[in-house]
Amino acid sequence: MSAVHSPVLSSSESARAPLVGAPAGTRQCPAPECGRPLSPRQQACSGRCRALLSRVRRATRRQDRDRRLLRLAEQGARAFREILEALTTEDAMNATTTPASTTPR
Ligand SMILES: [Zn+2]
Repeated sequence: MSAVHSPVLSSSESARAPLVGAPAGTRQCPAPECGRPLSPRQQACSGRCRALLSRVRRATRRQDRDRRLLRLAEQGARAFREILEALTTEDAMNATTTPASTTPR
């Protein structure tokens, strides 16, 4: 049963993945939906791809910055909440143990 070799399958498989199976060391144009081979010094295969890439990079950088700012804002909000909690608990402790009016300056 398993004596039948399948050359059709293997050949179709090798033909199916030309982009993924690129030899190591060959860089490809990183532009979306391009993937053309690059010479070592090239950033992109063409001026169009380079412009596209710079636009993508700028958008990505903006996204990164937005994400970072959002994270900072979240951290700030959390810190603010912690500060508030600390202050309120401190106030509560002050109110129960030592009156704030008698605390020396
Ligand atoms: Zn390209």
